[in-house]
Amino acid sequence: MSPFVNKPPYPNNYGSDFLVLDRGEGCYIFDKKGNKYLDFGSGISVNALGYGREDLADIAYKQMKKLIHTSNLYATEPALELATKLCKTGNFAAVHFGNSGTEANEAAFKYARAYSQRVKGEGNYKILSFSNAFHGRTFGTMSATPKEKYKAPFYPLVPGFETAEYNSVDDLKKILDSSFAAVIVEPLQGEGGLDSLTKEFCEALHEICLAKDILIISDEVQTGFGRTGELYGYETFGLKPDIITLSKPLAGGLPLSATLIPKKVNDLIKIGEHGTTFGGGPVTTAVALKVMSIINDKEFLDNIKELSSYFKSGLEDIIISCSSALKVKGEGLLLGLQLANPNLIPTVINKCRESGLLILRTGSDSLRFAPPLNITKEEIKTGLDILKKAL
Ligand code: PLP
Repeated sequence: MSPFVNKPPYPNNYGSDFLVLDRGEGCYIFDKKGNKYLDFGSGISVNALGYGREDLADIAYKQMKKLIHTSNLYATEPALELATKLCKTGNFAAVHFGNSGTEANEAAFKYARAYSQRVKGEGNYKILSFSNAFHGRTFGTMSATPKEKYKAPFYPLVPGFETAEYNSVDDLKKILDSSFAAVIVEPLQGEGGLDSLTKEFCEALHEICLAKDILIISDEVQTGFGRTGELYGYETFGLKPDIITLSKPLAGGLPLSATLIPKKVNDLIKIGEHGTTFGGGPVTTAVALKVMSIINDKEFLDNIKELSSYFKSGLEDIIISCSSALKVKGEGLLLGLQLANPNLIPTVINKCRESGLLILRTGSDSLRFAPPLNITKEEIKTGLDILKKAL
């Protein structure tokens, strides 16, 4: 019996062959035949604390029995506590909860446009994003995602979105005027090839945005909650955001997102202008509180930096012995390896999987590694040995 399913009843945008996964334990996943895989993908940077966690499952179970859903017509204790704690991580006055990264960014666009048009007048609604960005697949976030492959058959998109070159100060100076409501940027580009912001760019962006009252949105959907070795990716690279969007690791594998906004924005938002049915439910927020208590801890974050150095030096060793590997990319535990021949990427991914390692790709020419944040050095070594053989 094969652990794969061929042509399941999923839309064709998903390809045709799927490995059917059954259960997980720590940093390992098992398919339906019992084959074991070390997970360097974490369900695309989601499962930050690994699999099979009794503590998270227990919280979810108890909360499901107690109260499973209320809608945002009512508040619940876990959601209130999480919102309060998230606000305290920076200069934030309120949190809009949602269920996915794209929803977090859509909320940020709505708040930014409402703020800008109320402060600077109607028509000042433009949003700037950057080359190779990925912000989601709904119409607003697709409009902020420059790559054609994500949007070609879906035009017309949302008006008012423009693109600049990532890290180009010249572009910022040329493009940004006060008709822009916001700039959305990933401190480290998760899907787009793992390029990261330069200090010079962050400083110029901050200066221009301050002068023209343009909000800086840090899309932390992939970099947030420890992935880069700090609570937020912007801290690693020196960005000064007004709004933060979070999702993937927030609830340890359950769907939850958060859009953190400052007082000056919140003060101008009116009742009914945004909402959600499922976002910020008591189960996901109860689990997220536990996830946050584990990740937002100096020792835990320092350990991610230590694991990152170990992982990076292992990748550097691979570059020395494998001519097909060119360059180490990324930060923290969102790392990558640029390959000389991008056509080899699917083969390398398949070979790794056949040898018990799950990895991802990023951009046009790199492999991506985003293991659970509590992975051990031994597990990193095991994975790197498999990767080296595959290469
Ligand atoms: N923003 C970034 C930086 C992402 O990496 C992703 C997903 O990969 C998204 C937004 C969209 O998140 P979701 O797929 O949960 O809508």
